[in-house]
Amino acid sequence: MIVILKQGVPQPQVKELIQQLEELHLKTHLSQGENTTIIGLIGDTTVVDIDTIQSIPIVETVKRVQEPYKKANRKFHADDTVVNAGGTLIGGGNFAVMAGPCSVESEEQIIDIAHRVKQSGANLLRGGAFKPRTSPYAFQGLEGEGIRLLLAAKKEVGLPIVTEIMDIRDLDYFAEVDMIQVGARNMQNFRLLKELGRCQTPILLKRGLANTMEEWLMSAEYIMAEGNENIVLCERGIRTFETMTRNTFDVSAIPLIKRLSHLPVIADPSHAGGLSYLVPSLAKSAVAAGADGLMIEVHNNPPKALSDGPQSLTPDQFAQLMEEIKKYLALEQKSLS
Ligand code: PEP
Ligand code: MN
Repeated sequence: MIVILKQGVPQPQVKELIQQLEELHLKTHLSQGENTTIIGLIGDTTVVDIDTIQSIPIVETVKRVQEPYKKANRKFHADDTVVNAGGTLIGGGNFAVMAGPCSVESEEQIIDIAHRVKQSGANLLRGGAFKPRTSPYAFQGLEGEGIRLLLAAKKEVGLPIVTEIMDIRDLDYFAEVDMIQVGARNMQNFRLLKELGRCQTPILLKRGLANTMEEWLMSAEYIMAEGNENIVLCERGIRTFETMTRNTFDVSAIPLIKRLSHLPVIADPSHAGGLSYLVPSLAKSAVAAGADGLMIEVHNNPPKALSDGPQSLTPDQFAQLMEEIKKYLALEQKSLS
């Protein structure tokens, strides 16, 4: 249920109403936008008499919210959320480009790529240290050492970093990481989501391989329910019957999720298409669809990459794509922060 207040209600009266609502054993979620103040009610709202609340002089209107996700719901928070990942803003007109290799392989590799993607305009460095691989015999990532190398690249190049967590027991390694990625395979690892909800580090929540948009928003809700509201959603393609592409890029998820939720939505055309020549087209379609950012795999020597070489752009290909993306951003009135 949401309670929309009249414009210009003084703060003490807002506080008083919140107190009154919390006495009904409900949790409240306050959103104060430029024009609207909304109090979201979470819990058993059957105890609430809509007419009584509607009759309070500072209340404009009261509405029931049918969707099971509450804190992630745009009805609870009319304005776009802007997430700050180590100084890079994402959402509300701020566009993020997270670029880097699938896996961190060596200090030389990550620092070289970091320099190159920064030069082209990327504002976050990605790189996998803990890698979710289909085969246990495939390269599993440099793990803690990989994070140390990412931090070295961050220091040397001056880009905030985003990297994936697979197990909450590794959380200590992530203390200086600017944004923690929850990959597709862990989107419904609810214990992991709950634990990440107890920190304040921004979370990049990728859509699961075969998950609906509502399930994806419910996973965001798991994190938000524990107190961490710094979440960016990432569409990275879903499983379909098609085998020509690694996944099927669900471009419609971008405008749809942005309508349902106030959280920023970015796209990962690399894992969606699985082929480097598809990446520019998919990336541009995501910007045109209203995405708040892109995650793109870039490798200095794709044929030798330890993971995801076929979908990785070279630094030169990335530079060329960024020139095109900048034109699209101007049309969308968005800017790289
Ligand atoms: C990745 O970003 O390297 C990754 C493994 O992504 P996903 O979880 O989308 O497969
Ligand atoms: Mn990858």
